[in-house]
Amino acid sequence: MKKIAILGSTGSIGTQTLQIVREHGDITVTAMAAGSNITLLERQIREFSPKIVCVFQEEKAKELRQKTADLNVRVVTGMDGLIEAASEPECEIVVTAIVGMLGILPTIAAIRAKKAIALANKETLVTAGHLIMPLAKEFHVPILPVDSEHSAIFQSLQGAAGNRIHKILLTASGGPFRGKTKEQLKEMRVEDALKHPNWTMGKKITIDSATLVNKGLEVIEAKWLFGVQPDQIQVVVHPQSVIHSAVEYEDGAVIAQLGTPDMRLPIQYALYYPNRRSLSGRRLNLTELGSLTFEEPDTDTFRGLALAYHALSQGGNTPTVFNAANERAVALFLKKEISFPAITDLIEACMERVKFVAQPGVDEILATERETYEQMEQIRQCEKSF
Ligand code: NDP
Repeated sequence: MKKIAILGSTGSIGTQTLQIVREHGDITVTAMAAGSNITLLERQIREFSPKIVCVFQEEKAKELRQKTADLNVRVVTGMDGLIEAASEPECEIVVTAIVGMLGILPTIAAIRAKKAIALANKETLVTAGHLIMPLAKEFHVPILPVDSEHSAIFQSLQGAAGNRIHKILLTASGGPFRGKTKEQLKEMRVEDALKHPNWTMGKKITIDSATLVNKGLEVIEAKWLFGVQPDQIQVVVHPQSVIHSAVEYEDGAVIAQLGTPDMRLPIQYALYYPNRRSLSGRRLNLTELGSLTFEEPDTDTFRGLALAYHALSQGGNTPTVFNAANERAVALFLKKEISFPAITDLIEACMERVKFVAQPGVDEILATERETYEQMEQIRQCEKSF
């Protein structure tokens, strides 16, 4: 039996991970963590019997302890609890499926405890990739990508036999607003932005897909995962989301991974790597599809991607500013406090103002996050347009 921990078990990636566990029956879940959804968490505990469960909110943790008093499970809370769940002694793989920079400390703890990381939480690599990747190397821990594009790249690299990557072709669906003008974007509401054409995901990443910030985060994630330079990563808009990404080798050969848009495949690949298992669900039917199309991304209208490349070229704590500003701006947009274009406007304004740190450690990354939030607050107070 494989033993895993799932941080973010109640979310989109977390619940799909549990579907795989259910389907195959040869994985034990030893630890789980969620933010506040204790109704679903209780059901998950009763079905999967983890030893330890973290509920971030103290009040909710108390409630869950009462609800599960008849079970043999320890309920912990807060960041210390998340770290404890991430380093549960028996587990071998930690699926990091929480949203945002909150994932940094538990991921570091899991690596130090020698757990393989099935990484969905891209924000951790975006902000702390320069710390996470060397740490994983030091502790001989694999970082297995769960993000579908990065899994596709990882799959396309199997059998590379040490040959160098010439270029990564990172595909993007273009999101729900592909083809819209700047003027039209001003009218887009939360409900519109949450309608992704191909994928059903958590709210934050769905908004990130609409701004193309998600693709920007993925460019930075790819740099860390595959050790390439920014100019070796080309984003290609491919609205059908069938080619999940590709690698071009030095001789011009392009190896890609294709499939129906289904996150369970990359999750399952990470859990069983290097083995492949059967997976229920729809299969790719190329003749039914007929054609696949490709376009250049419109980085003038969708500034998120251009800002990410800028953050990557600056390095230091700039990707943290890019990410933290986005996390806060998306939360404000979801609360209907700012317009859709204000998300990237606020990111850009924060990137101009937050103090640059060339080699940030964890404390400086977290300090940069706080400073970004403060700067954003000041910008919003001073500028009526936000
Ligand atoms: P969801 O919003 O669906 O789920 C987030 C999960 O994190 C929930 O279980 C939530 O718990 C939990 N959580 C929130 N706050 C805390 C906290 N303070 N402590 C512990 N757990 C917490 O997100 P997704 O599953 O969509 O995304 C997860 C990550 O995976 C993100 O980084 C995203 O970018 C990445 N990703 C997602 C993909 C997808 O298809 N969804 C694809 C590729 C990458 P609760 O339910 O209680 O709030």
